[in-house]
Amino acid sequence: LNSQLSSLPTTIFTVMSALASEHGAINLGQGFPDTEGPRHLAEVAAASLLDGRNQYAPLTGLPELREAVTRSNSRFHGLIIDAAREVVVTSGATEALAACLAALLQPGDEVVVIEPAYDTYLPIIRLLGAVPRLVRLTPPEWSLPREELAAAFGPKTKAIVLNSPMNPTGKVFTREELDFIAGLVAQHDTYAICDEVYEHLTFGAPHIPLMTLPNMRDRCLRIGSAGKSFSMTGWKVGYITASAPLASVVAKAHQNLTFATPPNLQRAVAAGLEQDTSYFTMLADDMRLRRDILASGLREIGFDVLPCHGTYFLTADISRLGSIVQPGEDDIAWCKRMTQEAGVALIPVSAFYDAAGGPPPRNLVRFAFCKKPDILEQAVTRLRDRI
Ligand code: PMP
Ligand code: GLN
Repeated sequence: LNSQLSSLPTTIFTVMSALASEHGAINLGQGFPDTEGPRHLAEVAAASLLDGRNQYAPLTGLPELREAVTRSNSRFHGLIIDAAREVVVTSGATEALAACLAALLQPGDEVVVIEPAYDTYLPIIRLLGAVPRLVRLTPPEWSLPREELAAAFGPKTKAIVLNSPMNPTGKVFTREELDFIAGLVAQHDTYAICDEVYEHLTFGAPHIPLMTLPNMRDRCLRIGSAGKSFSMTGWKVGYITASAPLASVVAKAHQNLTFATPPNLQRAVAAGLEQDTSYFTMLADDMRLRRDILASGLREIGFDVLPCHGTYFLTADISRLGSIVQPGEDDIAWCKRMTQEAGVALIPVSAFYDAAGGPPPRNLVRFAFCKKPDILEQAVTRLRDRI
């Protein structure tokens, strides 16, 4: 057996969702919306299932979806992309991440990863025999320690993984931060794997793909996800935009991971990407409203809510909640206890840190606010009743 895999814990999202259903808790843990995405997308998917669109799709994706990804890149970011050679459709952003990392990395290569980091990056990097170089953002502002980031790049660096808008922090990297990162990527002749699954979920701060910065067009692999852009997290359709030489190697990885992605869902996702800009604006406005409901409710009952400019998530400091945080209790124990006692499931932020980087913060928790407003209010009431 592969000890790298057998020694991994079950992902915290699965652990907390199971605990939530065991205790009938409101699940503000795993990030999935509690309302369906656009109905007409489901209708396109259903019609294509019944239409005989059920055999293998082309390896790099249906032409209509690759065209839609190309038009979306141009509409939102002014990127001119060749649909035939610069787009690869995958089975979710998770497969896209694995395919991009596999396309770039050889054993011994180093990859810069910013913590707190989404939990699939490090296991994939290590399975490929590569070595993560961890750099931690500084709460409460989740600021980027520039000197540490620069020091993490060296002769063995092959890539940086950049997640913006960022899970779990809700951080949207600023133009200045991106300029700094782009400088390092170019100076060290490396690549950037840009996990931009929350690209349409920002609340004021603009999302700027690293790929749009000078000299970054051919160094970035930009990843999107239908799950997040159309509130259908179970669909698992992802898409990668990268220069043709990179995309051709990513396609080789994809060919050996899944080969192709369900064609019926691809058709629906193409229709989703072609929607009017007002759809994307409403999606973000709606999520911003939910963030505000949860953030103000939590502040009222004593949480220190950290800044959140995008994604489904906000983080909060529990250390001032003296009456409900028991002595010696860490974020994991507290989240489990709240699931059982308050009936609200959350995610401990320490789950996004690796032991190799030293002890993680133990005072931060992540709330998913992609839920109905009345559910968010109920969750706040349940937590208040425990204080
Ligand atoms: N990256 C980040 C930052 C995520 O939060 C997620 C979770 N949905 C993914 C990648 C995976 O996306 P998908 O469900 O499309 O595989
Ligand atoms: N991306 C989701 C989150 O951060 C979880 C996805 C999963 O469960 N693998 O909550």
